[in-house]
Amino acid sequence: MSTNIDIFPLIGKRVFVSGHRGMVGGAVVSQLENENCEVLTASRAEMDLRNQSEVNDWVNRERPDAIVIAAAKVGGILANDTYPADFLYDNLMIEANLIHVAHVAGVQRLMFLGSSCIYPKFAEQPIKEESLLTAPLEPTNEWYAIAKIAGIKLCDAYRRQYGRSYISAMPTNLYGPGDNFHPEGSHVIPGLIRRFHEAKEARAPHTTLWGTGTPRREFLYVDDLAEALVMLLKQYDEPGPINVGSGEDMTILELAQTIASVTGFEGEIRIDESKPDGTPRKLMDGSRIRALGWSPKTDIRSGLERAYRWFLDNHAPAEFRSV
Ligand code: GDP
Repeated sequence: MSTNIDIFPLIGKRVFVSGHRGMVGGAVVSQLENENCEVLTASRAEMDLRNQSEVNDWVNRERPDAIVIAAAKVGGILANDTYPADFLYDNLMIEANLIHVAHVAGVQRLMFLGSSCIYPKFAEQPIKEESLLTAPLEPTNEWYAIAKIAGIKLCDAYRRQYGRSYISAMPTNLYGPGDNFHPEGSHVIPGLIRRFHEAKEARAPHTTLWGTGTPRREFLYVDDLAEALVMLLKQYDEPGPINVGSGEDMTILELAQTIASVTGFEGEIRIDESKPDGTPRKLMDGSRIRALGWSPKTDIRSGLERAYRWFLDNHAPAEFRSV
């Protein structure tokens, strides 16, 4: 994939992937299976990442060479807006504990994951890494965004003060197998897959789309992200965020029409303007990661088909598995 030299070869390394039960962590674990490294994971019962002494004990006992922070409190626009304390506190604690303990325990390499919502609400499009902290955030997810900005700055601070090789990658809106399909708490793709599937099964004449349908979003299939992250873990060593996006965006209405086609829902799509739109557009500039030789492989239609298949296999009751 890339002709660059590995500054951190993974062969023989012990790599701790936090958040392995989530969509991103799970995909990173699978991707690392190609790397001849030893992947470490920990269940929530074994270590609560919000608890500093538990993180300290675990890291000092297991002695990883690298840590990937894929663990986070995540959710869609409504969840972010409804649980601001959880989104700010949980994410601050997870990253502060892992980054600080990694440094104290001498973990050589760490990769922190954020999100495109760290950038200003009205950032110039496509959004360059340099636009971080140049203007106000989108209010619906500022709690999450502020925690994630603090995580980037923690990595940069340990790099600057202690020379640590800790990096921060910013994925765009993600989707795929293992996503959270909660009806209210999820992001738009799993939310619509579930709603449209259920509407089709119930033979409902119409179903709803939150907001006006006009915001534009960029989407990336999670396995493409995992490939980018493993490449960055091996090859990238700069401060600040690096964007990981697909390079293309679409309106929420166009997305809904594609999901209707993938799920086989043929009824009417009605907009529900009582729900928030969020930021009007957040297409990231991917020049920096493209220069390293990575580009996504999965087009939106086939990615959505795989996500829907996973939903049917894992969530839909047996009588609903009609495709
Ligand atoms: P955001 O990118 O942080 O705004 O997160 P979301 O993925 O939750 O929402 C993206 C856009 O999709 C917003 O404009 C939502 O209003 C819109 N949307 C439409 N229907 C849904 C839905 O059923 N669930 C969610 N989460 N968003 C929806």
